[in-house]
Amino acid sequence: MPTDKGAERRYDVVIIGAGPVGLAMACRLAKVGLNIAIVDKVTELDLSQPEMDGREIALAHRSQQYLSEIGAWQRIAVNDIHRLQDATVMSGASPFTLDFTRNDSNDEPLGYLVANHNIRQALYEQAAAYTNIHIITERKLKSAWTGKAVLDDGTTLSTQLLIASDSRFSESRRMFGIGAKMKDYGRVMIVCNVEHAKDHNSTARECFLYGKTCAILPLGDKISSVVITVNANLAQEMLSLSGEQYAQQAEQFISGRLGKMKLITKRFNYPLVGVYSDRFVSRRFALIGDAAVGMHPVTAQGFNMGLQGVDTLANAVIKASNRGTDIGSMRVLQTYEIRHQLHCRPIYEATNAIVKLYTNDHPAAKLVRSATLLLGNKLSPFKNLVARKLTQLQ
Ligand SMILES: Cc1cc2nc3c(=O)[nH]c(=O)nc-3n(C[C@H](O)[C@H](O)[C@H](O)COP(=O)(O)OP(=O)(O)OC[C@H]3O[C@@H](n4cnc5c(N)ncnc54)[C@H](O)[C@@H]3O)c2cc1C
Repeated sequence: MPTDKGAERRYDVVIIGAGPVGLAMACRLAKVGLNIAIVDKVTELDLSQPEMDGREIALAHRSQQYLSEIGAWQRIAVNDIHRLQDATVMSGASPFTLDFTRNDSNDEPLGYLVANHNIRQALYEQAAAYTNIHIITERKLKSAWTGKAVLDDGTTLSTQLLIASDSRFSESRRMFGIGAKMKDYGRVMIVCNVEHAKDHNSTARECFLYGKTCAILPLGDKISSVVITVNANLAQEMLSLSGEQYAQQAEQFISGRLGKMKLITKRFNYPLVGVYSDRFVSRRFALIGDAAVGMHPVTAQGFNMGLQGVDTLANAVIKASNRGTDIGSMRVLQTYEIRHQLHCRPIYEATNAIVKLYTNDHPAAKLVRSATLLLGNKLSPFKNLVARKLTQLQ
């Protein structure tokens, strides 16, 4: 929706960036009656009918429940939700695998896989259904300071709380003088969907091989997402392979376990850069989603962690609103920052440690990988802990 150019408008909360995390925040706060503006630089069509971007998001149970609570999960077609029943990790030619499965009695899967564009569309539809969410498209933030956001058409948005969810390369973060540690992994993730001859049995497979890693994520009947990560200098070579050659490589990565493969979508590529913001808040300002912490996707935590941040910040804001106190006070923001830091820091560091171990082809690293797989399987408490972390059931 366009703005009245140059006008000044007042909202309880202004959110910059209508990606999945920003939209989830808007829906959560609108549910309790707060008046929200959410701004994105893309068109309304880009938000209402987002194009496929190749990302299949592995959702933990807590995320699925949260999307359900804010009314978005119900808007995703059943056929677009894929159960992730088991997961297997393989390392090169090592005969050992580390298998994660739900070994309790109920039929709950480890998690769910849903395409990123389906999640975004559902969240947009839910946000658009609220009369107290004002969606402003094709606008960028020109400048911002305490309680004010000026858009590039001159419109000023006044607010008690400005929230930035404008990606890991957040311009808003910079405007508030918050720095970030960036880690360029020097690698590129290439994603596409394939058909294959054998059943995937709803099992995700992650294989680490000769400097490349390959994850196969189970989608529909004999359809999977293939996620190959390579050194950046090899990415162009991989992308210029024909569809047939590329499918053959994917088959080899998992030793033909799913039979012959055929590409059914184009390939999308993502240069991998991790980002951890020095602070998550400033006066009347908070960073959420990738703008706060942009993760390496290998542990599939980015969006899950983003939703956790939405929950933490929204709870603090709603509590203040219910008490009739300032929803953008430093007390509210610090509650969010402390809790979210405690949640994110260990996951961010553990993910980087995993990336280091599994992308290092030094013989010692290979040995540690094989030992991890062997021991991991023998140590049930370890496996159960990881499975619980993956599913976020406890
Ligand atoms: C290949 C891949 C696989 C992944 N798999 C998983 C997974 O399995 N599980 C998981 O939990 N996570 C996964 N992730 C991470 C997940 O995709 C991100 O964490 C999530 O998309 C972050 O959402 P966001 O809303 O914070 O940011 P984004 O999705 O980056 O959205 C940012 C929004 O801000 C807008 N914007 C940017 N700049 C401006 C500006 N200046 N003004 C206005 N608007 C602006 C953009 O247009 C966009 O709409 C994966 C990521 C990748 C790359």
